[in-house]
Amino acid sequence: MSNTPVTAEEISKAIRDVPDFPKAGIVFKDITPVLADARLFAGCIDLLMDGYKPGDVDAVVGIDARGFIFAAAVALKLNAGFIPVRKQGKLPYTTHEESYDLEYGSNTVAIHIDAVKPGDRVLLVDDLLATGGTAAAAASLLQKLDAKILEVRFLIELSFLDGRKKLAGFPISSLVNY
Ligand code: AMP
Repeated sequence: MSNTPVTAEEISKAIRDVPDFPKAGIVFKDITPVLADARLFAGCIDLLMDGYKPGDVDAVVGIDARGFIFAAAVALKLNAGFIPVRKQGKLPYTTHEESYDLEYGSNTVAIHIDAVKPGDRVLLVDDLLATGGTAAAAASLLQKLDAKILEVRFLIELSFLDGRKKLAGFPISSLVNY
């Protein structure tokens, strides 16, 4: 495996466009080729945690389901806890819930009421920022728990959908923009 640092451009080239999935008109950004490449996967994690070191963050929050893949790896490398924001009905203990509209359909996400402590410094991570509804709902859940959101980070941002508008007030970054 090459030691050359992975660039966002390499990651971008490996992301596969799947037209009309899961429904007509949506171009799905398929990240599985990135995950399947050990160097690219590791590079994504390094880029997603760039600027942070162990001790800077108490928890990394990942959004169901692809966000888990990245958030869990970042959490391990930052020696931080991993917290799942899950789709409604999946978490076993008492939850807070938040509903929102998706690029396709609508959804409700949930977090355990004791997932983070008030004042915990958290990084929120997801694979893709589209309309911003999902990440904004996750951010609201974290605000209900009085967490301090340091930043919201994405692998991919579909800039033309202007999802950042829904996350106004939070620092946001993404590795690959379309
Ligand atoms: P949104 O709430 O509109 O920002 O949608 C973001 C969520 O939906 C992310 O968790 C993505 O996994 C998923 N998603 C939305 N649009 C796409 C797309 N074009 N390709 C892949 N995933 C998408």
